[in-house]
Amino acid sequence: MKEFDYVIIGGGCAGLSLAYELEIHEKLNDKTLAIIEPRPEYKNDKTWSFWRVTSHNFDDCVKKSWNNFSINVPGKTNYLECKSFPYQSIHSGMFYEKINNKLRENKNISFFKDITEINKKNSFIFNSVPEIKNSHQNLWQHFCGVEIETKNNFFDEEIFNLMDFDCEQRESVHFFYTLPYSKNKALVETTWLSKMNDNSQKDYDQQIKLYIENHLKIKNKDYEIIYKEEGAIPLFYPLYKKEKNKINIGTAGGMTRLSTGYTFLNIQDHCKFIRENFENISNVSRFEISKKYQFLDDIFLRVLNKHPEKMSDIFFNMFKTSPKTVIKFLSNKSNYLEDLNIILRMPKWTFIKALFY
Ligand SMILES: Cc1cc2nc3c(=O)[nH]c(=O)nc-3n(C[C@H](O)[C@H](O)[C@H](O)COP(=O)(O)OP(=O)(O)OC[C@H]3O[C@@H](n4cnc5c(N)ncnc54)[C@H](O)[C@@H]3O)c2cc1C
Repeated sequence: MKEFDYVIIGGGCAGLSLAYELEIHEKLNDKTLAIIEPRPEYKNDKTWSFWRVTSHNFDDCVKKSWNNFSINVPGKTNYLECKSFPYQSIHSGMFYEKINNKLRENKNISFFKDITEINKKNSFIFNSVPEIKNSHQNLWQHFCGVEIETKNNFFDEEIFNLMDFDCEQRESVHFFYTLPYSKNKALVETTWLSKMNDNSQKDYDQQIKLYIENHLKIKNKDYEIIYKEEGAIPLFYPLYKKEKNKINIGTAGGMTRLSTGYTFLNIQDHCKFIRENFENISNVSRFEISKKYQFLDDIFLRVLNKHPEKMSDIFFNMFKTSPKTVIKFLSNKSNYLEDLNIILRMPKWTFIKALFY
């Protein structure tokens, strides 16, 4: 069986981002890489969105970018501007195609469907397949989104809705998220933050249908669904065993910001870090989301778990501070003063008590 210098397990967002980063920086000119990916074909299966707080390699895969957004709770809406850090949505189909086209140019890179097809004994491994221990205590961000096309122009494509809490909460945390790609196309997503032990929350199709009809006021006959995505992001870190010659990347590598589910840009930062330290990769210490955010997110999720009914106001109030500050905080780029600004917006006793749950 063939041996490779490097093996990437999982050719999804993190695996392909890493291979691309290494390839464009000519780290694979005289090294071999195997990518293990079981999916039969690549197709558009996700939309990765985030505030562009750092540069990345995929500006040409951006489906749409916004400089304005809103957040609302029943009876109140806050309109915010994010010109300094535009919110971008990446089309995963374009992302896969761009990367795979580039990787095909290098004969040192090979794709396999299963790890048993190669001899990985002497390879350095980048693993993006998470090991998740099932527990009813774990919180997830689970969601379903549909892209709809309306018969007539309907949406204001200049502003997206980050969180609309004006919907049933069912003793959990629930909001809708709407990304208007154009005047007649938008992604409408129902999102829950919960333990996922309640299957009754998964009537996603019905939730979306009612939201489109009753909140967006678009009649059933006036739109059609042209794309659908569904997923669940763990709001906890997957198991991470320290092993020689192996690094976990992506969700498996702890790149999800637990209070928000945002992962894409952290994956890109991790890939840059690996590329910069590539020649010495077995000796560098683990790349992590800063301990400061891990600590704050832990308290945040304890409050969310104990007081789901308070979360819509907590999110709403967080965005009352300058949008730049919140965006930096949610994207792990804030300084201590900015952190303090956010912390002071939180209900103090609720958060202090959460330290002792
Ligand atoms: C529908 C959806 C929407 C999301 N939207 C956003 C967003 O808007 N913004 C954001 O920041 N984050 C978002 N995320 C979270 C996160 O960015 C994505 O989950 C991202 O794809 C994580 O990258 P990854 O490489 O860790 O996992 P994946 O992209 O899932 O890649 C893992 C790969 O491993 C492969 N695989 C599975 N089993 C094996 C095996 N045994 N051997 C080899 N390969 C295997 C899979 O086929 C897959 O290709 C979203 C997640 C989902 C599911």
